[in-house]
Amino acid sequence: MADDPDGRSTIGLRDAGPFPERIARRPGSPGHPPRRLPAGSRGRWSLLAAVAPCPVSLPPAVLPREIPTDTQTLADYLDTLLRPGDFRDYCANGLQVEGQRNIRTLVTGVTASLALIEAAVARGAQALLVHHGLFWRSAPGVLTGWRRRRLAAVLAAELNVFAYHLPLDAHPELGNNTQLGLRLGLARGGSLDAAGLVAVGELTEPMEARELAARVAQALGREPLLAGDPARVARRVAWCTGAGQSFIEQAVGRAEVFLTGEASEQTVHVAREGGITLLAAGHHATERYGVQALGEHLAARFGLEHVHVDIDNPV
Ligand SMILES: [Zn+2]
Repeated sequence: MADDPDGRSTIGLRDAGPFPERIARRPGSPGHPPRRLPAGSRGRWSLLAAVAPCPVSLPPAVLPREIPTDTQTLADYLDTLLRPGDFRDYCANGLQVEGQRNIRTLVTGVTASLALIEAAVARGAQALLVHHGLFWRSAPGVLTGWRRRRLAAVLAAELNVFAYHLPLDAHPELGNNTQLGLRLGLARGGSLDAAGLVAVGELTEPMEARELAARVAQALGREPLLAGDPARVARRVAWCTGAGQSFIEQAVGRAEVFLTGEASEQTVHVAREGGITLLAAGHHATERYGVQALGEHLAARFGLEHVHVDIDNPV
């Protein structure tokens, strides 16, 4: 998540170097069984509903690659899957820029930066799917400088741009929180908020916060910032990817460790005085996985070629 995509605070994270680009296998190829998500309940999920299955039934790939997916079909499918209408967000979610009609190659990435747009164009993609899109409610209503260059590159290539912010953080299977938890061995047991933006789960084996920090460092390829007691024994962990530092207050008394992407100056004091250990593992680093999982899902469902491009960001 992001409070302000244009002005982020840094937390001095070590830059672990470029993250390898991942190229999803084509559906049906060995080792890539089509992802199937179960049918289930609809609507905004509550604490109990946070572990409810995905709202739509998602069959495996049914379209041969010779038949491209059209933009509107993909837009409708994504809106049904991610339900952006259930969220009050800082941006418009869904198809942000309409490009060419037929889509064969999909590039995914965290932020629709110029570097990512150019990478998508270089790979011959017809669609770009991101977590942080091009348009934010806090932005000035003008297109100059770097904003103009981003959009000019998109329009010149007739590139479709899809962006999902909070709906992608919260999705119970493909979302950033759930996908990060999977990489850290954190089984999601629910959420601390009604929108599902703050996940909570138990560690299979209790460990000191510093041991969990080492696990995070290994999984994400960079050292997290740790504030509070490093020797606190963690059983229950709350986490929120991206700029989730303000949610630490909801986690006080309900988890021993709070993991998020960014930290603010006051977050450290809340951790120290609230009896909870903070791990801030990087906004970008914690939000790499939802969009990858979603891209792989779409590739399997629609027979698309999917390429995930990681434009490294030390924040
Ligand atoms: Zn974010």
